[in-house]
Amino acid sequence: MVNSHIHSKYSVDSTEEIDDICKEAINKGLTAIAITDHVCFWHHPNGLKTKDLIDCKNEILTLNKKYNGKLKILFGMEISEYHFNPSYEKQALSVGDIDVVLSSLHDDITISSRKLERRLCNNDFKTFSKEQIVELIKNYYKILIDIAKNSDYDVLAHLTYPLRYITCRDKVKVDFKTIEKEIKDILQIIIKRSKALELNTSNAGSGFFMPNEEILKLYREMGGELINLGSDAHVCQKVDLGLKEGKELLKKCGFTKYYYYENRKPIIAEEL
Ligand SMILES: [Zn+2]
Ligand SMILES: [Zn+2]
Repeated sequence: MVNSHIHSKYSVDSTEEIDDICKEAINKGLTAIAITDHVCFWHHPNGLKTKDLIDCKNEILTLNKKYNGKLKILFGMEISEYHFNPSYEKQALSVGDIDVVLSSLHDDITISSRKLERRLCNNDFKTFSKEQIVELIKNYYKILIDIAKNSDYDVLAHLTYPLRYITCRDKVKVDFKTIEKEIKDILQIIIKRSKALELNTSNAGSGFFMPNEEILKLYREMGGELINLGSDAHVCQKVDLGLKEGKELLKKCGFTKYYYYENRKPIIAEEL
């Protein structure tokens, strides 16, 4: 089993040592993991410190020797909010020897009808009108389409991130028709650019996957094949969170395998 989305102490929202993540991964039967720490303005407000990325890369090099034959450790990063500061991406990629680049959008969405907390997770969507939710989602995907088209990534992460808070946490239902066109546009871009889609299992405990079954099936029907699996773990214990369930879901949606990236090239992780 391979987990392609894990954060370590090189992200400001995690304190985990990569070595501890490796030990836990081996205990839980994983064969490879990708360390994908945050690169974005929110995490590096005073400019990107490439030293952190280089230290992370070097540590991974050492740990690959230590765990040779037991676990493959891949060096990656999660670049977010690309549109705000494309220079962060350029700087981050200049570090070199990267296995996988995840691209994502978390925060800084604005709507005309209401002032939002800049971090999406800090908004209480129960207090939003239906129109405000629709406006927010439309604006989110407008930016994500731009990111999917223009940034230099391998895997588009947690495609339905706003629903993690709107639907999974705050229990506000969003009709798929609201986002259908935008989702189709993004999937089309991913397929055309030979990028991968991520199945993010961080909320698998609540039966919530990003994206859900309907979107995964749609991606498959549209010819999408490249799919990665990641638990978005920020603590060691979550190194295998939802991966088994994720694999089952992929199988159900018509996927026969899933992938991971090494040297920014897709490799079959497992047949399903
Ligand atoms: Zn993320
Ligand atoms: Zn993440």
